[in-house]
Amino acid sequence: MTKLRLAIVGAGPAGIYAADLLIKAERHFDVSIDLFDHLPAPYGLVRYGVAPDHPRIKGIIGALREVLDRGDIRFFGNVRYGVDLTLSDLKKHYNAVIFATGAIRDATLDIAGIDLDGSYGAADFVSWFDGHPDVPRTWPLTASSVAVLGNGNVALDVARILAKHPDDLLPTEIPANVYEGLQESPVTDVHVFGRRGPAQVKFTPLELRELGEVPDVDIVVADEDFDLDPASEAAIASNKQVMVINRVMNQWRTRPAGTASRRLHLHFYAKPLEVLGADGAVTGIRYERTRPDGAGGVEGTGEIRELPIQALYRAVGYFGSPLPDVPFDERRGVIPNREGRVLDDHDEVVPGVYATGWIKRGPVGLIGHTKSDAMETLSHLVRDQASWWTPADPAEESIVTLLDSRGVVFTTVDGWHHLDQYELGLGAAAGRTRIKVVARDEMVAVSNQTPEA
Ligand SMILES: Cc1cc2nc3c(=O)[nH]c(=O)nc-3n(C[C@H](O)[C@H](O)[C@H](O)COP(=O)(O)OP(=O)(O)OC[C@H]3O[C@@H](n4cnc5c(N)ncnc54)[C@H](O)[C@@H]3O)c2cc1C
Repeated sequence: MTKLRLAIVGAGPAGIYAADLLIKAERHFDVSIDLFDHLPAPYGLVRYGVAPDHPRIKGIIGALREVLDRGDIRFFGNVRYGVDLTLSDLKKHYNAVIFATGAIRDATLDIAGIDLDGSYGAADFVSWFDGHPDVPRTWPLTASSVAVLGNGNVALDVARILAKHPDDLLPTEIPANVYEGLQESPVTDVHVFGRRGPAQVKFTPLELRELGEVPDVDIVVADEDFDLDPASEAAIASNKQVMVINRVMNQWRTRPAGTASRRLHLHFYAKPLEVLGADGAVTGIRYERTRPDGAGGVEGTGEIRELPIQALYRAVGYFGSPLPDVPFDERRGVIPNREGRVLDDHDEVVPGVYATGWIKRGPVGLIGHTKSDAMETLSHLVRDQASWWTPADPAEESIVTLLDSRGVVFTTVDGWHHLDQYELGLGAAAGRTRIKVVARDEMVAVSNQTPEA
């Protein structure tokens, strides 16, 4: 029977689901799958994106772990495609590769002052509070008033983590340095800005409702934002999700003013125009009041407002990163593809090269969507047998020999178990569920049970 030696680059949900679905698929060939990730631990943004105070979603790691624990997929962590492994290496040892490298960068926002000190990308902050090994250990939390630009769930995550009292995050897995950093924060007011109205937000109802339950944080909404136009009324009447969101916001509007020590303000119909600064640092935000344009969008009213702030986070989307020797769409931040088959500059299919997850589709959608994504990609991979690569050296041990010869200290599924147990142990000792290890060297040393480099 033919054997498909498959490399998957990226051990986030997209990569793990792709491996799992292929193993379980009805097929006329054997498979042997190696999963590579440049981080020492698997799970991608489930570990390094999903907010620490969302334990139910973090719990998806349990399901992904079961896939790896079955033992029919090899995991090589701490291996970076483009540095430790090249496309020609993969062609030498595998029949095909699926890139599932996701997105970790912030999309840009082209407004004046966005590069001032105190203006940050949400993705960088998320990486910090989720303990990503490749970001600095400290975060400048000196602002009392902060703006968060964006009306999606990432904006809510950022706003909530900024507004929450750090002790309320202690039951979560936040790393020690993050807890200490948040304790220094003098924040009193977090302002979330959206260009459109409350019926057009991209928040999910659960995430929005949760804001109202944060201890000692009042939610502030303005009546002027709830003078709904017919399109908004129709959206509320026809879409259950929008209806619930509207109900939640109206409950906040009618609550008596609170006395909490921190406030989270939701500003709608507010289009950021400029980040104001003095001496190179953020001092305020200038924005224009918008109104519905009657066609589902908004238009400027010409009314300009300013709000003093000392820090700003743009949560306007994530963006994929290019990979060496792999086509890349600079405009969309994805690997160009047709249903997962990677395309070259002439829109021709590149044999043996596939994509799945956020790097395939762009950074939208929930973890569950990466499953259907993987199905689509795999349906082509399975049918493309005639155009798979013919590797010169497909032996399973050859990749281990190659990594060893390059001095790449990789981690494995067993290594993840060691790290997992260690983090749970750190947590137990402090009366918490888990405390994440942040430093890459320490992650590798704990995983491989070796002295730290
Ligand atoms: C802040 C935030 C919060 C979120 N919250 C939720 C939520 O509550 N619920 C929900 O369902 N979804 C949530 N999502 C969405 C969810 O995280 C994504 O749908 C999902 O993670 C995308 O999976 P992926 O495998 O494509 O990418 P990723 O999860 O990003 O995985 C990609 C993997 O590829 C690896 N990689 C990248 N480059 C290389 C390279 N050169 N070599 C080797 N490996 C590489 C990365 O290390 C990473 O492990 C959230 C996303 C963000 C950003």
